[in-house]
Amino acid sequence: MSVRLVLIFVLLFGMIPVNAQKPEGKGGSSQSGPAIKQPVGPNGVTIQPYGLVIHGGAGTIARDKMTPELEKEYRAKLEEALKAGYKILESGGTSLNAVEVAIRIMEDSPLFNAGKGAVFTAEGTNELDASIMDGKTKMAGAVAGVKHIKNPIVLARMVMEKSPHVMMTGDGAESFAKQQGMTLVDQKYFFTERRWNDLQRIKKEEEEKQKPKTDKPSKQSSELRARDLPENRFGTVGAVALDKNGDLAAGTSTGGKTNKKFGRVGDAPVIGAGTFADNKTCAVSATGDGELFIRSVVAYDISAMIEYQARTLDNAAKVSLSKVKALGGEGGVIGIDKFGNITMSFNSDGMYRGFVGPDGKTTVKIFRDED
Ligand code: ASP
Repeated sequence: MSVRLVLIFVLLFGMIPVNAQKPEGKGGSSQSGPAIKQPVGPNGVTIQPYGLVIHGGAGTIARDKMTPELEKEYRAKLEEALKAGYKILESGGTSLNAVEVAIRIMEDSPLFNAGKGAVFTAEGTNELDASIMDGKTKMAGAVAGVKHIKNPIVLARMVMEKSPHVMMTGDGAESFAKQQGMTLVDQKYFFTERRWNDLQRIKKEEEEKQKPKTDKPSKQSSELRARDLPENRFGTVGAVALDKNGDLAAGTSTGGKTNKKFGRVGDAPVIGAGTFADNKTCAVSATGDGELFIRSVVAYDISAMIEYQARTLDNAAKVSLSKVKALGGEGGVIGIDKFGNITMSFNSDGMYRGFVGPDGKTTVKIFRDED
């Protein structure tokens, strides 16, 4: 082969975009997952990538606080969600369907702070937030502060597909759900003892803090400490997917923060903060200190860094999380880009997370030291 031929060969095959962006090495205070391995066809050309990444919340997940039984339950549920989403993608279904199904499975599990198992507000109610975005059309749907919706991600998708709006809140969102034929559930459905006990504990701590002390901490530092409690907001769920058509989608669902007051809404239903998808770049779902994720516009920030600065997904995720950290927040993001590269980055102690690619092999991780 002449030098010219070799050059043409290298140029041609060097330009195949699949996995062109390799994830960066570990660095800073966040960690990431590997890229989804794309299968190679008989002629040596990589075939269309597709894949799904999920999270079940980021925060302080210490091995010594996790019983082997509970760990097994978490891993099994994450695996179930990944497999259900993969089935859809593998058979040529849409990334939106894969995202919705994976999130629904986690919403139905009492393990996560979304749907069944959502945390309690200061009033002892459950108020749920969720959003979904279609990277192909840039259509988006979100609901916030709903109290009787078993699967908020399903209602978010209805807002996107069956209404001219992007976000609906509280009673209005529930009227829309009824109009769409959705059956509402009683608040009792969301009750779990574990989350109820979290609320009681936090309330007690709040009472303690209110007692006069000589060396009383500043209001801001006590607020920060309360927010940092893992049980305060732990277990939001999210999913991002790339389907065989090259379409991206992202979704996030949460109960928010334990003891939240005054109709507080976090980043999960805020398009651009907790959820974002654009076929030009990537799909992202976030989890963590919602207020700081809103202020850092994390999900869109990651997409924008890819679009305008040609950063890799993994690098953009780390940069965006470092901005959250600089404001005093912690959490994580999952993402998949248009090439099938993934990220599972977090600056907390752990994040329930997993991914599956075209080879159908599921990978589930919980602790930081698993990367
Ligand atoms: N981001 C969610 C919120 O602030 C909570 C979480 O992801 O843990 O509502």
